[in-house]
Amino acid sequence: MTTAIRINRKSSRPTRRDRLIGEYEHDTCKTRGKLPEPTACRECGAVFRKGRWQWVKKPKCAHETLCPACHRIHDHYPGGYLTLRGPFQQEHRDEIVHLIENVEAREKAGHPLRRIILVNQQDDNVLITTTAMELARSIGDAVHRAYKGELCYQYTDEANILRVVWER
Ligand SMILES: [Zn+2]
Repeated sequence: MTTAIRINRKSSRPTRRDRLIGEYEHDTCKTRGKLPEPTACRECGAVFRKGRWQWVKKPKCAHETLCPACHRIHDHYPGGYLTLRGPFQQEHRDEIVHLIENVEAREKAGHPLRRIILVNQQDDNVLITTTAMELARSIGDAVHRAYKGELCYQYTDEANILRVVWER
């Protein structure tokens, strides 16, 4: 059994960022100090408090906005991509998708901004898009741990996007 993890990190950081990317910078801790607290997401109900998004009861006085995860879902602008390839996932697809949903539920419970946008079956492959690159990484790691195979990460620094490919 051979497993390989290849990391291809583009380290060059562009000096100019376009507007679209700029809109998503508030995914990070940079949100701190920009949003009034408390602020609640009108879509999912997550609450921004003490500098981070949390699943807590919406305070009566909360401001309203769209949280970064709902923003990404609306615009279909994923932060992470995970592709499942190879004959193994075709034979065990239900089982693997079940594992993926469990990983999402666990991650989302502690990190409201980590969610699956879509699980898309494309011919022989499955493409999963996520609101946060951390979730694409966690799902890739979990699938790799459970089923071995080969896992690759490709991080694009300028767009802050992680692409993960798993194949068996
Ligand atoms: Zn939301």
